Amino acid sequence: MSKQGALVALRGQIDELNSKLLELLNQRIEVARQIRAEKRLLGQAVYDPERELQMIGELLECNPGPLPPAIVAHLFREITRTTVEQLEGADQRTLRVARKCGEPDRIFKVGPHLLGEGPVLVSGPCSVESEEQIFKTARFLRSRGVRFLRGGSWKARTSPYEFQGLGRRGLTLLAAAAHESGMASVTEVVDTRHVAEVAQAVDMLQVGARNMQNFELLKELGGCGKPVLLKRGMSATLDELLNAAEYIASHGNQEIALCERGIRTYERQTRNTFDTSAVALLRQMTTLPVLADVSHAAGRKDILAPLARAALAAGAQGVMLEVHPQPEIARSDAQQQLDFPAFDAFLEALEAPLATLDAHVKPPAAMALVGR
Ligand code: PEP
Ligand code: MN
Repeated sequence: MSKQGALVALRGQIDELNSKLLELLNQRIEVARQIRAEKRLLGQAVYDPERELQMIGELLECNPGPLPPAIVAHLFREITRTTVEQLEGADQRTLRVARKCGEPDRIFKVGPHLLGEGPVLVSGPCSVESEEQIFKTARFLRSRGVRFLRGGSWKARTSPYEFQGLGRRGLTLLAAAAHESGMASVTEVVDTRHVAEVAQAVDMLQVGARNMQNFELLKELGGCGKPVLLKRGMSATLDELLNAAEYIASHGNQEIALCERGIRTYERQTRNTFDTSAVALLRQMTTLPVLADVSHAAGRKDILAPLARAALAAGAQGVMLEVHPQPEIARSDAQQQLDFPAFDAFLEALEAPLATLDAHVKPPAAMALVGR
């Protein structure tokens, strides 16, 4: 046989081995699919890391070489991972939260209001501090047409010596204030142990930036029965944010809104750097409503309207901002919360280029703003 002929024959062998490997890999997925069906019947988790370890251990023991053990382990881990992805639809292209071709935006009810339709405002204090504070704020905001009332009850503070929130009492006050004003209530949940209680009390559960990859919390929120507002971690990529949303979606809850709240960069003039391209990209990449929290992005009061305009121009379906009756005595984020007159100025600065917001945010002629 000529040298050329030998090469062709060897390549033929490789082609044959490749198609055998491919056939075997596909067969393996089919068997794994059957195993998954059996496990479902038995109520067992699909992915079993112990079984994976045991399989790889056995393969290493009978490996005749020349493949080194590390490569064998790597190859079979990859095979297991892609099999689970195939079966669970967790491949990046098939993420439940990814926008499929031609798929319309997702719109869902949060308490009495819709999210995902026209631009809305989610507003309220950083923390719920007292009955008077939250009722005053709710009445004021509602008089300006705001439909979503925010306020933290369990605060994820950088320092343990800072105000940690009113906890359960804050939750009750927020829910009552929102209810009185016909608003939807939104509050952060920081602990898997609180999920049921918070879901019982408010209309939407927020995952804070610091908890975006708290996977046990995300899984729990999959079964909480209420919409979730998922904030982008301060150092999270958009893929990481979408995968965090996927944790919630794959555990049974499709009602998720994403929130860009600024990322950490070297710039010190702002608390974080608001990432406008994240808003535009998330609108392309998913059908989920995308919100922009301009308060936590800026960490200051003077550039909120331009940031909000930028976010809305990039396609955001809502803006979050912090409002407090007396920001100077606020127990958290005092430097960035707007007082009521500043909120009115914000609305005015926002309204001009955004006719669509008119229907949602319009000061009704007269409504008393008295406190309780
Ligand atoms: C908040 O919205 O109350 C908050 C703490 O924001 P973040 O998690 O984005 O820092
Ligand atoms: Mn805050």
